[in-house]
Amino acid sequence: MKIFCYGTLAVEEPYVRAWSKKNAVEVGMTSKPLSSATADLAKGYDGVSTKGIVPVTADVYAKFEEFGIKQLAVRQVGVDNQDVPAASQHGITLTNVASYSPRAIAEMGVTQAMSLLRHIGIYQQRMHNGDFTWDADTISTEIFNCTVGLIGAGHIGAATAQIYSALGAKVLTYDPAYDAALEPYTTYTDKETILKEADIISLHTPLLPSTKNMIDAAAFKKMKPNAILINMARGELVDTAALITALKTKEIAGAGLDTLANEVAFFTQKKPYADTPQDFQELNAMPNVIITPHVAFFTKLAVKNGLEIALNDAQLIINGQKSRHAVN
Ligand code: NAD
Repeated sequence: MKIFCYGTLAVEEPYVRAWSKKNAVEVGMTSKPLSSATADLAKGYDGVSTKGIVPVTADVYAKFEEFGIKQLAVRQVGVDNQDVPAASQHGITLTNVASYSPRAIAEMGVTQAMSLLRHIGIYQQRMHNGDFTWDADTISTEIFNCTVGLIGAGHIGAATAQIYSALGAKVLTYDPAYDAALEPYTTYTDKETILKEADIISLHTPLLPSTKNMIDAAAFKKMKPNAILINMARGELVDTAALITALKTKEIAGAGLDTLANEVAFFTQKKPYADTPQDFQELNAMPNVIITPHVAFFTKLAVKNGLEIALNDAQLIINGQKSRHAVN
């Protein structure tokens, strides 16, 4: 058996080699993303795996079908860059890794929120300018006196609820899917209450037609002026122009973003700063905004789990068995 891995990160390579040896399966690798330009690299392989945000189009699945490949194991949660109906049409079973380490993403969200709560970016900017003062603008609130509002409490939202709860914060959750196991850590409520009452609003929903731009100008108007918005989920959940306005007009106090609506144009790449999108530059210049390049998942445990779960799924499907991680 031979499996080909697209978008292979250098840190994944040792785990690929270990999995390959343990399972006696040959695994080919490229760091290049899966796309129309790279689909041919899988010729001669029995199965494929990928990771990343570059859109995968119908012609890619058509090529895989031609090569006799029956599956594509995505080494991440999000399959929004895949054309799922087209994959089905070409007989390709897509699998994802719904949970590789929810704590990894939850911890990044909490880290950004805590940093914004204590105005670290503002102090750093001031000190670069020789200003070592503090004032009413930078007075903080202890986390145990904060109300945290989670929108979406699946794998990552649940892990986030547990961390904030352990820190003593009051945790409110809006999620149409109720999970009784979260009762010790959070109180379920509606979205309006979260927008109005939360000091930290943390987004953990998938990108769906119903969640696109769920945080828009109207939502910002409902938030407290000290509110901090955390988005570790998908950039398109937030109307970026409305976010910039809300920050400029002090409708909210700060934002922590691991994901941006237009990130596919520059995240994972190296390019001159001047060539990055204007709205990114505007946000990145604000000391009360933290942007990280979609790296919340990037911990050793998450990388290892993501790789192993995906390759196990590829092996199962190549062997004619079913994977419980199939998304089509
Ligand atoms: P999940 O499927 O386990 O949970 C999503 C939750 O959102 C579910 O409980 C669902 O009921 C809820 N939901 C759906 N629509 C909703 C709505 N309109 N309002 C409120 N809740 C709603 O997903 P997860 O594993 O927790 O991942 C959450 C998000 O995080 C996804 O968008 C995923 O792509 C993103 N993610 C980001 C990174 C990163 O590195 N930044 C890594 C992994 C996942």
